[in-house]
Amino acid sequence: MPELPEVETIRRTLQERVLNLPILATKVLYPRLLQNCTELELAQALYGRAFKQIDRRGKYLIFHLDSEDRVVFHLRMTGKLVAVPWSFPMEKHTSLQVILDRNLELRLVDQRKFATMHLLQGPGYGMIKGLATMGEEPLSDEFTPDYLLAQCRGRKAPIKSVILDQRRIGGLGNIYADESLYRARIFPGRPAGSLTPKEIHRLHASIQAVIQEGIAYRGTTFRDYVDGDGRVGGFQERLQVYGREGQACLACGESIHRIRIAGRSSSYCPNCQI
Ligand SMILES: [Zn+2]
Repeated sequence: MPELPEVETIRRTLQERVLNLPILATKVLYPRLLQNCTELELAQALYGRAFKQIDRRGKYLIFHLDSEDRVVFHLRMTGKLVAVPWSFPMEKHTSLQVILDRNLELRLVDQRKFATMHLLQGPGYGMIKGLATMGEEPLSDEFTPDYLLAQCRGRKAPIKSVILDQRRIGGLGNIYADESLYRARIFPGRPAGSLTPKEIHRLHASIQAVIQEGIAYRGTTFRDYVDGDGRVGGFQERLQVYGREGQACLACGESIHRIRIAGRSSSYCPNCQI
């Protein structure tokens, strides 16, 4: 699943390509993608307009139109959003085409078909629950060690599920959560409330470092992630624990284990992470 660094990389690449180009047409090839509008309503809202800015919040991409309407995507498991020339061969599983001027179009390709799209015409994000209730961004000024401590305090839930909870931190997913806990030397199954202030500080710093590096290396391509230009990421070369089960821990040589925590697979070093 694309996480914060991947979605941010898609945002940055698309922002270079698709802004200020008049929208000529939309084609919805998988109508269930549309969460709150019909194909006709989408076509009417977009026709003749242009995207003026693309924002990201957590794993959501928010396309602002010059009409003040917004189109909000969540790519879920396998969604890819790419800008390609009109003649570019259609990929299997293409769900949506937004045809722009200057021989360019925005395409959503989604093998598993879990991606969602909302059309927002009023103020606020209230109708998208995941956006309205989202916790702080890991690289924002509001995400402090005290904020992280407040999210953990008194909780018996595993720290891994607390940091994956989008209502507490926006944008972390399985890959960056495992990497953050490994770097902070914290076992993912530890009850969140048992972390000491020192461990909270370490985890806070690790989350920020891992997300910053993830963005700097333009995301992680573990299976099918590509950016808005169709290019794979580079952070998969830098992963220290995720996807390395059975291989030697880079710090101590112990074999990396994998277990399920709160329904998610979790990779960790049984020697380094306590
Ligand atoms: Zn180790």
